[in-house]
Amino acid sequence: MTSDKPRMMKALVSRHHKFRVQEIPRPALREGELLLQVTACGVCFSDVHKIRFQPLEEPVVLGHEVAGRVVESESAKFHVGDRVVVAHHVPCGRCHYCRHGNVSMCAQFKKNNLDPGGFAEFVRVPAEHVESVAFHIPDALSNNEASFMEPLGCCVRAVKRAAIQPSDVVVVVGLGSIGLLFMQLIRHAGGKCMGLDLDRARRELADSLGSSATFAGSEPDFEESLASMTSGRGTDAVFLTAGNPPLVPTALSWLRAGGTCLVFASLHPDSDVTLDWNQLYYRELNIVTSYSASPADLEEALKLLANGSVRVARMTGHTFPLERFSEALAAIESRAILKAIMTPGEI
Ligand SMILES: [Zn+2]
Ligand SMILES: [Zn+2]
Repeated sequence: MTSDKPRMMKALVSRHHKFRVQEIPRPALREGELLLQVTACGVCFSDVHKIRFQPLEEPVVLGHEVAGRVVESESAKFHVGDRVVVAHHVPCGRCHYCRHGNVSMCAQFKKNNLDPGGFAEFVRVPAEHVESVAFHIPDALSNNEASFMEPLGCCVRAVKRAAIQPSDVVVVVGLGSIGLLFMQLIRHAGGKCMGLDLDRARRELADSLGSSATFAGSEPDFEESLASMTSGRGTDAVFLTAGNPPLVPTALSWLRAGGTCLVFASLHPDSDVTLDWNQLYYRELNIVTSYSASPADLEEALKLLANGSVRVARMTGHTFPLERFSEALAAIESRAILKAIMTPGEI
């Protein structure tokens, strides 16, 4: 049997700290699967980290913040032409890790993925993804906005793991795209957010999105504000969205007794962090990490985007075709832009 479907497609293939656009086979579908034309795929810092620091021995197509249009469907849930947003990992829901809420440590979660990845013209969405982590994009959202579902889902889970309560004061370190998502989630949870970032434009954006106060760093007026906002107790939580080893002990010193440091950033592989163990013990400090999102967190994230509780329109302005990935990377790494969105399958 012959088919007139194109057999090849463009993809950004990464290997050994390098990347290039090349033609690779267009995936074929099995029962229950979808083929999406990728219209938007956000560049995550983990993509940057993988390219810069991981050996990537095998060629890989990165990109996991995927929104697109269905071009082929073997599923009753979605039809050709539907706008769909999808995440890349699905937990089994039954294993020891899943039963303890550590869904992102589930073996199936670590193994399954979109085929080949979002930095490609088309992705095959496997049946388990179609069932659990693929959603229709609400009319209120553009595809670029919907591509924030995955990173926002990760932030939703982190806020839950940090057990933020209404009226809590939370210091968010780093007002990049993730910091701005956290800030809005904390506000939505009824908390007050103090944002720290050296970049004035980012602080101004945080102010306009509802941060209670923003500062360039741990200068005296930050310490004074922290004391006055918390009746001298210290902050209920610190969210670290940027990997900066010397900052960790300082961030712990801002916490109230019993407070929580939420770790949401990797460090350079050669980094060392020094912790005052007795401070952790005697002050009952918590260090909580959070990595990735569960299907329920993703669904919640999409609702928060659709109902305007979390606004991302001002982070969707920088789009790049695959051929301009190096430009996107440079713009992110130099902090010239908050977020880069690749548009591999846009006509
Ligand atoms: Zn990511
Ligand atoms: Zn599992």
